[in-house]
Amino acid sequence: MRYPLTEEERMIQSTSREFARKDLAAVAVENNEQGVYSEEIYKKLGELGFMGMTVPEKYGGVGLSNFCLILALEEISKVCASTAVAMSVHNSLVNWAILEYGSDFLKDRYLPGLASAEMIGAYALTEPAAGSDVSALRLTAERKGDEYVLNGTKIFISTGDKAQVIAVFGRTDQENRNRGISAFIVEPDYPGFSVGKIEHKMGLRASTTVELVFEDCRVPASNLLGEEGMGMQIALAVLDGGRVGIAAQSVGIAQAALDEAVTFARERKQFGKRIIDFQAIKLKISEIAMAIEASRLLMYRAAKLKDAGENMTKEAAMAKLFASRTANQASYDSMQIHGGVGYTTEFKVERLFRDARAMEIYEGTSEIQHLVISKKVVEEYERMLPE
Ligand SMILES: Cc1cc2nc3c(=O)[nH]c(=O)nc-3n(C[C@H](O)[C@H](O)[C@H](O)COP(=O)(O)OP(=O)(O)OC[C@H]3O[C@@H](n4cnc5c(N)ncnc54)[C@H](O)[C@@H]3O)c2cc1C
Repeated sequence: MRYPLTEEERMIQSTSREFARKDLAAVAVENNEQGVYSEEIYKKLGELGFMGMTVPEKYGGVGLSNFCLILALEEISKVCASTAVAMSVHNSLVNWAILEYGSDFLKDRYLPGLASAEMIGAYALTEPAAGSDVSALRLTAERKGDEYVLNGTKIFISTGDKAQVIAVFGRTDQENRNRGISAFIVEPDYPGFSVGKIEHKMGLRASTTVELVFEDCRVPASNLLGEEGMGMQIALAVLDGGRVGIAAQSVGIAQAALDEAVTFARERKQFGKRIIDFQAIKLKISEIAMAIEASRLLMYRAAKLKDAGENMTKEAAMAKLFASRTANQASYDSMQIHGGVGYTTEFKVERLFRDARAMEIYEGTSEIQHLVISKKVVEEYERMLPE
């Protein structure tokens, strides 16, 4: 897509593209087939500076923009969306939460390791009874002396079994539904922490998704993120950035689906013609291409607003919703263009189709994005229109 990128942004795009095409492509098929999470890949991403993209240089990061981060995430996702899951959570949810809300102690203790990828970050919000409704979370965090004692279970936590730095949300006040939630940084060797069930997923198979169990898990009080009661605010603010990351994953998947479709349709012949010369196929290709460019523009806008320090809750939700739908439609149509072979594991589109499905579910389902967008839109009208 034609878009005026700066020299630096072009450099990030081409470096991530090259890494994805060489290093990642060499292992992506096998890792996804076998369900293998590759530590090696994250080490390399750390060496490239991609695991500390927005972390300032004084904490060992490369101090670039969120815009650069989504450019890289898109390129990685074209080749292996699983790899982008951990990269996105790590950068957008964990690094950013510590940067924005962490004390100097937490920044010094965790950011250098996270930026170099010696430490991997995970974000633990979802619970069995609290998915879309975050305010229903039950994990308790009781202050005892200079520690908090955590009890409860988190589910579906990406890279929760690999992470050294886990942002965990728990209830410090039973009476106050929203303001009774606080956020903590938990290390896996804290007493009372364990990894439970490991999920077997239809897609994103080179990324792990696990249950985390907290049984009288003792966390130093100094590992409180922000202040007591700020957890809900932190969880939601951080998710705005995360959703732009999911938009980037989605755009990457959709673009790969289009690339595969065009390549295939130029070669496959039926009725004595290349199938790309049939109008029905051209229509699909133009629809996918247009939706990808619209998704990318929504994502670019949300990332630019974040870099400008502006609220982008509505824009992030729009980017996530539109791009994730596009990823699903694009991989569906690409498989259709492939015909029977597209349904086999021989062709990449089969993996893209499975990976795309999660994009409309995690970090807020599509239904929840509709709620977020409509709330903001109605608020805008109410500000503009007379009573
Ligand atoms: C691969 C994967 C990775 C994940 N990684 C993480 C992670 O790293 N950290 C983490 O904390 N969580 C993670 N999750 C969890 C994910 O964020 C939740 O699954 C998601 O938020 C939905 O919650 P739920 O599954 O409980 O569904 P529910 O909230 O039970 O929703 C079920 C259905 O009801 C709909 N629904 C719910 N409320 C409403 C409403 N008010 N209006 C209309 N429809 C509604 C939903 O849209 C959905 O269709 C991951 C999930 C997956 C699949």
